[in-house]
Amino acid sequence: MNAGRGPVRRSRLGRAALRVALTAALHPACTIPGYWLATGAGAAWGILAGHGPVCERLRRRGELLVADTLPPWAFGRGGTTVGGVFLTSPAQAARIGEAVYAHEAVHRRQWRRFGLGMIPLYLAAGRDPLHNRFEIEAGLEAGGYLPGPPAPAPERPAT
Ligand SMILES: [Zn+2]
Repeated sequence: MNAGRGPVRRSRLGRAALRVALTAALHPACTIPGYWLATGAGAAWGILAGHGPVCERLRRRGELLVADTLPPWAFGRGGTTVGGVFLTSPAQAARIGEAVYAHEAVHRRQWRRFGLGMIPLYLAAGRDPLHNRFEIEAGLEAGGYLPGPPAPAPERPAT
């Protein structure tokens, strides 16, 4: 027996192995294929679960592909970006403004940066968008997580 030094060595070795694994996982050689795999999966989901003519289930909007013919069960919250594809429903799409598309475009760039690592990293950041680093980076107000600026006070009727 090595009198207590073993666990320390394994711990250091474990941390070093984790560091090497994370460095490799976040290398563009891994993240870019992961981004394209996620984009392909998002596009396939948008086409397979969408409604209406197949050729209208996926379209380009700026740097995003948008699949906005999905039923509400097919995505999270008001919409979900998977790779470069924003998944949402017709009802949500009718309410979405430019700010939300800009927010989702930031998520697309996060997918490009982290590849498939985006999935565990996003989940580890927590479900509460107000404390999730990815939602904060994308903009909480643009994502609809904060109330917008207060509406102007109604004008008082002339007396
Ligand atoms: Zn978001």
